[in-house]
Amino acid sequence: MPAAEPTSAATPDAELQMEALSALCARRGFIYQSGEIYGGLGGFWDYGPLGVELKNNLKAFWWQRMVRERDDVEGIDAAIITHPRTWEASGHVEGFSDPLVDCRACKRRFRADQLEGVPKCRAKPDGAHDLTEPRDFNLMLQTQIGASLAASSRAYLRAETCGPIFTAFKRVREVARQKTPFGIAQIGKAFRNEINPRNFTFRSREFEQAELEFFCHPDERAKWFEYWREQRLAFHRALGLDAAKLRLRQHERDELAHYANAALDVEFLFPFDWQEIEGIHDRGSYDLTQHAEFSGKDLSEFDETSRERFVPAVIETSIGIDRCALALLCNGYREEQVKGERRTLLRLSPVVAPIKAAVLPLSKKLGAPARKITAELRRSWNVDYDESGNIGRRYRRQDEVGTPWCITYDFESQQDGQVTVRERDSMAQQRVASEGLRAYLSERMEAETGP
Ligand code: ATP
Repeated sequence: MPAAEPTSAATPDAELQMEALSALCARRGFIYQSGEIYGGLGGFWDYGPLGVELKNNLKAFWWQRMVRERDDVEGIDAAIITHPRTWEASGHVEGFSDPLVDCRACKRRFRADQLEGVPKCRAKPDGAHDLTEPRDFNLMLQTQIGASLAASSRAYLRAETCGPIFTAFKRVREVARQKTPFGIAQIGKAFRNEINPRNFTFRSREFEQAELEFFCHPDERAKWFEYWREQRLAFHRALGLDAAKLRLRQHERDELAHYANAALDVEFLFPFDWQEIEGIHDRGSYDLTQHAEFSGKDLSEFDETSRERFVPAVIETSIGIDRCALALLCNGYREEQVKGERRTLLRLSPVVAPIKAAVLPLSKKLGAPARKITAELRRSWNVDYDESGNIGRRYRRQDEVGTPWCITYDFESQQDGQVTVRERDSMAQQRVASEGLRAYLSERMEAETGP
């Protein structure tokens, strides 16, 4: 096999952008390496005080749209480790693998299908790797259950969250008194022993997915596939991702999993390239058929019209929460000049912004009334209070973490009962009665994201 050319997919500019963003994320407590005092652990990331707010907001928005607002979707929260037969039935134990190659010179390992952009070989003067033939590497992380180390106690950390949705299909349908077409949704951790975790959190070994498995009659697969494609695209737009940076990519026939009828990726234009943030898959009746066979349980349903039993087909929508959060950060990050000074800006939609508003008293002497306003707003949102430093510096601190509104309480506020609301992107300021501030902000949020 040919030696890998020591090229880089990302332009130097893209690398600088990603470096600036990851530095901001670490400095302001969005995301930093897990176990960083020990040098970090490749492919594992911690979310700090602002990162956890961003991620929770994203998950809550998904849950709101996909579960709460719908009659035909039920939510669950299943165990990360489940019966190992689940992963035998799904085909993961046998075939959830990536092609792995080793460099004979520098001993590093790479994914054979992702050689573009890998670092140069350190052991050869020309920097080109001397690669072995590819071989399959299973991505499932394993663990042992109980005190025994016997093969019978082996279990797997799930590589995708959908497995337990299929095994719980019958119970959820019955307890929720649902009939196809209906869906089961879940948000949770997934684990993959990725060969080359890279591009910040984009390819991690531990990550979160939000998945919907929508069960329908096999004859209606095409209709539901189209329906969910439109729904999911609308979701990404509502999150505030720029339309020009979003696209759908249909999988070619030879890319499809053996059971899949159709698949497409929602892709985002990251600084390093167009990359998948969500997959939409027509999985046919493969999953329920497999689990019925492996468990010996009947997972079919009765069709009242045709008076026949059928195994429901599945349309899946699978978004990576961490990848989507990274897309939001990349989409929002901007450096600009304002009156000769540099300002770093994170244009996050109020739906996901970790801090919705910051209350900034002009002087420490105004602390008491400003704190009262903060307490009132905190009944609804995560609101920051900051009285240290000059007002310009305080605005900048909020701009770079994406706070949509800053509320300044000044000496006049004591007289006229009004505060100044400054909008992050335009920096426009408006006087608003402090009494009606909560209603004012609610309206502004709804205007930007829909009720
Ligand atoms: P890729 O081809 O990039 O490895 P995939 O096609 O294997 O992704 P799926 O199995 O379809 O991904 O998973 C659904 C979603 O889960 C992806 O769209 C992505 O957002 C997320 N995801 C998958 N693998 C990872 C990972 N290693 N780190 C972070 N998110 C991931």
